[in-house]
Amino acid sequence: MGDITIEAFEDEARRFLDANAARKEAERKFVWGEGSDRVVVFEEKDREAELADVRTACEWRAKKFDAGFGWIGGPTQYGGRALPSSYERAYLRLEAQYEVTNQNAFTIGLGMVAPTILAHGSDVAKESYLRRMYRADIVGCQLFSEPGAGSDLASLQTKAERDGDEWVITGQKVWTTGAQYSDIGEVIARTDVSLPKHKGLTGFIVDMHAPGVEVRPLRQMTGGSSFNEVFFNEVRVPDDHRLGDVNNGWNVALTTLMNERAAIGAGGGGGGGVNMYTRVIEMVRHLGLDSDPLVRNELANLLIHQRVSGYNNQRAMDKIKAGQLPGPEMSIAKLAGTLNGQRLSAFVSKVLGPKLIADGGEWGTYAWGALVLGTPGGRIAGGSDEIMRNIVGERVLGLPKDMGIDSKSAFKDLPVSRA
Ligand SMILES: Cc1cc2nc3c(=O)[nH]c(=O)nc-3n(C[C@H](O)[C@H](O)[C@H](O)COP(=O)(O)OP(=O)(O)OC[C@H]3O[C@@H](n4cnc5c(N)ncnc54)[C@H](O)[C@@H]3O)c2cc1C
Repeated sequence: MGDITIEAFEDEARRFLDANAARKEAERKFVWGEGSDRVVVFEEKDREAELADVRTACEWRAKKFDAGFGWIGGPTQYGGRALPSSYERAYLRLEAQYEVTNQNAFTIGLGMVAPTILAHGSDVAKESYLRRMYRADIVGCQLFSEPGAGSDLASLQTKAERDGDEWVITGQKVWTTGAQYSDIGEVIARTDVSLPKHKGLTGFIVDMHAPGVEVRPLRQMTGGSSFNEVFFNEVRVPDDHRLGDVNNGWNVALTTLMNERAAIGAGGGGGGGVNMYTRVIEMVRHLGLDSDPLVRNELANLLIHQRVSGYNNQRAMDKIKAGQLPGPEMSIAKLAGTLNGQRLSAFVSKVLGPKLIADGGEWGTYAWGALVLGTPGGRIAGGSDEIMRNIVGERVLGLPKDMGIDSKSAFKDLPVSRA
């Protein structure tokens, strides 16, 4: 399998895609008033409709995996093909020419949890989960944040106590994206309260259907509910589901967080893609504001920032695809993406005025409300803007280390933030 030339691999991929998906029509010209005017940051579907979408996405992944395109760079032992990243890129370029179902449900499981299992999991965990995750037989989520531990993740209080060959986990997590359709979750829990806060943590893979796991939806201001509170009430986890050594959970968490930023960067840095900006230009024309010098100036500003951040993301993604670890570039990409989201949101609000909040039935106007309400969430997810600035300040610009916000131990034990 490993000896295939890239040309033969591309032929094979094309044959698979031709047989299983429709080719995209040439990029349709955007026409004001035609088709859907939805512009969202977070899905607002009810949970039943969302589950149906996840099932369709899983079916596509299974098909792709069975044909040898589900984990192109992964180890053959777990169903991968162990091919270089150039093959993965070639496949993704080809797949982008076809209509395939949205794969967002796997961003966390495959983008963050699976690489952590590969790096820190026991043989049992790798055997049990990797193939099934890449085939989408199971979906994974990330259970790090708690009501009192977000940016300062090392303050988390969920505890895991050893009981023979098992661990017993009790505590509460929050903001868990996709817990409602996940089968397993990566949990970081406190295993030794006597150690400094970031030294007494351990990572685990938890069965989300196990007794004692309770998932409760959280309602967002957009109307959707992508997140959950997750309660662990004496949930039993076998020791072979531990990630890494006991009390080495901080390193496990860092592996996941580095991959998180890479996954967010790969998503284009938020704030919408080209289509979103095409829509905004057409909206300006439609509202008769295209000859207003102030509007033109702001629109140009918006587009320049979006283009520059796209180039920067490309640079960071090329580095990752060349096999290097995601670095502080991902924080720049994330920060630039959320700033662009805010610029877009502010521009749209200014240009639309009351049409943004009062639905007059006019196509392509009130619909922007969902984007405006969803944008602030992007500033927090995966590390807030302030935390991203700290990382850029310290690791790119070489400024002195942030002292963090820790009222109990300020200046003594500098907290290691989610950064
Ligand atoms: C869309 C979305 C999806 C998410 N998905 C998940 C998920 O799947 N799994 C998961 O575990 N978590 C998830 N989260 C949670 C997310 O990681 C946390 O919300 C984030 O880390 C911030 O933590 P916090 O909400 O506790 O805010 P805090 O950490 O309490 O921060 C409050 C404010 O203080 C600022 N602040 C904190 N520390 C510093 C500092 N040192 N310097 C300067 N300013 C600081 C922050 O920037 C922020 O403005 C998600 C969040 C969102 C919005």
